[in-house]
Amino acid sequence: MRLGVAGWPVAHSRSPMMQNAALQALGLGDWRYQLLPLPPGLFDETVVALPGSGFRGINVTIPHKEAALALADTASAAATATGAANTLLFAPDGTVIADNTDAPALRGAIAERLPLAGLTVLVLGAGGSARAAVWALVAAGADVHVWNRTASRAARLCALTGGRPLAGLTEVAALRAVDLIVNCTSVGLRPDDELSALPLSPRLLSGARLVVDLVYGKRATPLIAAAHAAGVETIVGLEILVRQGALALELFTGRKAPLAVMRAAVGL
Ligand code: NAP
Repeated sequence: MRLGVAGWPVAHSRSPMMQNAALQALGLGDWRYQLLPLPPGLFDETVVALPGSGFRGINVTIPHKEAALALADTASAAATATGAANTLLFAPDGTVIADNTDAPALRGAIAERLPLAGLTVLVLGAGGSARAAVWALVAAGADVHVWNRTASRAARLCALTGGRPLAGLTEVAALRAVDLIVNCTSVGLRPDDELSALPLSPRLLSGARLVVDLVYGKRATPLIAAAHAAGVETIVGLEILVRQGALALELFTGRKAPLAVMRAAVGL
């Protein structure tokens, strides 16, 4: 049985290492998870041919998440609401089923630390991952404020997901306190990125109960480092990566994912 991750570029993905370690731990020795480097022009025609080549399903990453949802026959509520699929499952009858495990992965990781209902949240960013985060947190009963560098994108995202857009830095500064901060911008991805790109005063940061940064790399991101320095609990991006992969693996195999094995495989 074959699985994989489709993206462009995708060579840097940690998913094969993580998923193959999990398949081995589950005793699924005849399953293999591989990289599928697919330029946008080849995505649709390649994906429809995959079931015939022994594929049970694939994960999908940038830039194919919208295309993956568009080609599916059916989609979960999470994929439909976020407008993006990060998982495609190929059913034996030929049906292609789209899901989005990014949203429940984030919700699950946070819910283990804080009850979500009634929580005041600040989401930073208005791209694909922010849309999944805001949808998941609003659905769980949180009061979600959204800031983005380009304010018009935050307003559009909130109109779709039920978050509350913050028009600019003054409105962020006017927030009295937030329980949870979730960084869904790409700030922290590049080595020279600085925390000053995000609208976080020392007061807002140190008053939070939990900080989540979706970005991950070799070192702690500036946001995670600042949260540690302020004594605030954190969830790092690799943990969310592991959890979205674990939920996808459960859809592919019907087996409980070995989270500890997957964490160790990515160096957590
Ligand atoms: P995206 O759709 O490209 O959105 C990028 C966001 O970052 C936009 O809101 C953009 O604001 C903002 N941004 C970019 N540069 C900025 C800067 N210098 N200052 C302030 N804001 C800036 O990306 P995405 O798919 O949402 O992903 C965002 C990050 O999360 C990426 O680093 C990705 O690797 C990571 N991620 C991690 C996981 C995981 O499993 N851990 C899952 C998904 C994504 P504008 O609208 O103003 O351009």
